[in-house]
Amino acid sequence: MQHPELAAPMISRAMENYLKTIYRLTTGNDKVSTSRLAQQLNCSAASVTNMLQKLSDLKLVNYEPYQGVTLTTTGNKIALETIRHHRLIELYLAEVLGYSWDKVHDEAEELEHVISEEFEERIDRALGYPTLDPHGAPIPSKDGEIENQTSNSLWDADGGESVKVGRVSDRNPEVLRYLGSIGIFPDAKISVIRRAPFNGPIYIEIGDTEHTLSAELARQIFVVPG
Ligand SMILES: [Zn+2]
Repeated sequence: MQHPELAAPMISRAMENYLKTIYRLTTGNDKVSTSRLAQQLNCSAASVTNMLQKLSDLKLVNYEPYQGVTLTTTGNKIALETIRHHRLIELYLAEVLGYSWDKVHDEAEELEHVISEEFEERIDRALGYPTLDPHGAPIPSKDGEIENQTSNSLWDADGGESVKVGRVSDRNPEVLRYLGSIGIFPDAKISVIRRAPFNGPIYIEIGDTEHTLSAELARQIFVVPG
């Protein structure tokens, strides 16, 4: 991807993935630790340290060994631009090419790094300047503004509450297929019947049908009052 704010050098795909991950892990927190990053990126602490040093040299992250890491303004901008590509591509694949919502994430993980600014602009226009991706996550604007997204999961809802699905985690295709099969999509209405103690399950109703979800599943569904 070309980043106009950086003359050279090119930001690699691996670097963009680091910036995105740091963005995700620092939302609402101050700093993310090297060990947390290593765990999330599935690589060794040594290679994380190595990459953080490179990103720090490019002034994309604020990094002090043993102190954790945050994004600089430029790093944040690149993370949001990559996320914008990702979510626009997902929506394009779903709406125009007929992909199901469980298949778009993996394609977008690849394509987000390679599309040009013109391609991004054309997708945006073709889709009518959308604000949400197929999983309900907000698409950052061209100038890097992003709407706050709900962080209340279905697991946190109480018995007797009515909620609406805002967003579903897009990480696991099998989870998405299952949730889709029982009618859980953005905007779907859910009545919470009750939640069993400790690790659940949670009993819910969608339409007239009752379902039970494990804590693990319910934590991947983010809801708003509805
Ligand atoms: Zn995705």
